[in-house]
Amino acid sequence: MPPPLPVRDAALLLLGHGSTLNADSSAPTFQHADELRRRGLFAEVHVAFWKEEPNFRQALRQTQRRHVYVVPNFISSGYFTEQVIPRELGLSGPVTHLGRQDIFYCQPVGLHPVMNEALLRRAQSVVATSAETISAPAQTACLFICGHGTSFNDNSTKIIYEQAALIRSLGLYADCQAVLMEQSPFVKDWRTLTDCPDVVVVPFFISDGLHSYEDIPVLLGLTHNIKEQGFVNPHRENGRRLWYATAIGTEPFLADTILSQVAEFQARFPVETQPAPSSDSATTIADELARFLELTPPPWMIGELALRWSEDRRYELLQHADLALPVADLNPVDSAHDLRQLALWDSDGNFRPLPAAPNLRRGWVHRARDLADLRLALDYLYPAALANWTLRQHGLLPVTPWRETAERQTGRFRIVRELGEEGVRELVATHCQPGCLKNRLWTPDALPPATRSGEIPLLCPEACNYLVGKAREKLKGPGEE
Ligand code: SF4
Repeated sequence: MPPPLPVRDAALLLLGHGSTLNADSSAPTFQHADELRRRGLFAEVHVAFWKEEPNFRQALRQTQRRHVYVVPNFISSGYFTEQVIPRELGLSGPVTHLGRQDIFYCQPVGLHPVMNEALLRRAQSVVATSAETISAPAQTACLFICGHGTSFNDNSTKIIYEQAALIRSLGLYADCQAVLMEQSPFVKDWRTLTDCPDVVVVPFFISDGLHSYEDIPVLLGLTHNIKEQGFVNPHRENGRRLWYATAIGTEPFLADTILSQVAEFQARFPVETQPAPSSDSATTIADELARFLELTPPPWMIGELALRWSEDRRYELLQHADLALPVADLNPVDSAHDLRQLALWDSDGNFRPLPAAPNLRRGWVHRARDLADLRLALDYLYPAALANWTLRQHGLLPVTPWRETAERQTGRFRIVRELGEEGVRELVATHCQPGCLKNRLWTPDALPPATRSGEIPLLCPEACNYLVGKAREKLKGPGEE
């Protein structure tokens, strides 16, 4: 595959699943975004998630670039890539003209042929890093490629069967089969699906999380949570050995696979690569931020953050409760990546599914070299907050009432359509008002922000997926994500 044509005037948007329960789910998407940002191939690199913020609805607000390449960091073509993403981003096909932007919707990462290599590497490394070996895998070992399986879309499993068939044809293993968590052939039936004495299971998932750490180990009969309880390969059972690997999404070469999907898109849909004259004529988020910092005196506030000049005239970001402390007493956090890690957990070590929850840890300081660094830091701490605020400044921020958000839900979340207005109010009173610092703009009972000088308000233009999940829980009882 040829390298991508110059895309330096374009934005890259990586989409992942994310999770409101654990931090591992979005990690590969952030990892590859950081790497691609470091390479400087695109003018901007952004991320968005189904379950985390910035969510898919806010995804395209993060850039005003005329050309935006969207690459789903998903394993297969299916429910998410064919239904959820087009619906949430407003895409109508591979090329969508949205206002003044052209959105180029590329194939998901998992469909690239190189994924076969990723699966084989993972299968080989899980055995190589264990205390035992498989001396003749072509005679004794069965490799299981384990996917999710869903009744929402048949395409979701197609790629798993294709990968298993391809590996089978290579003859590296005595057998290779696709197995699924929620559909036949079930991974829980591994004992009867093969006679091989050696079995290797590789989860065909982008990220580790609930499925790879808990669900599949339980279905295999290994342990309840390999992350918490630990697991030593191989597992022995009735004279057989089983190796269990982790998900493949953190393989570093997947950053190149993302670029390959962009290049493949360009080959299939040649697009004009000239920078569009209108691309920078609209007010950008960076312009708006620069103007705000110029016109208002420091310290500036955003959520629980305070921003001021450091002694060496860099932007200094800290928890506002620490403003009065000597800087020497605060721990320096050097990179935006480390800042994001810090914001994932509260001071008791609990995962923070809501970035705007009023429990951002204290005791740190981050210095951003320039406006671009500052924007990235703010995007990581309060995703899409600057984008929403910029749009609001120009009267362009769309606000979606609860009823409309509920009507848009499909699949397992369709049930939230049944929640009445009183139910929504209870939900807001339980989760939004005490648990989130955002100003809720959507009805019922919107709470627009009071304008305060020197503050960038955190805005909530529509119910987040966390709240939609809580609405489902309210109707159905607690369930898995
Ligand atoms: S819906 Fe509620 S919890 Fe979710 S971001 Fe908005 S205000 Fe916060």
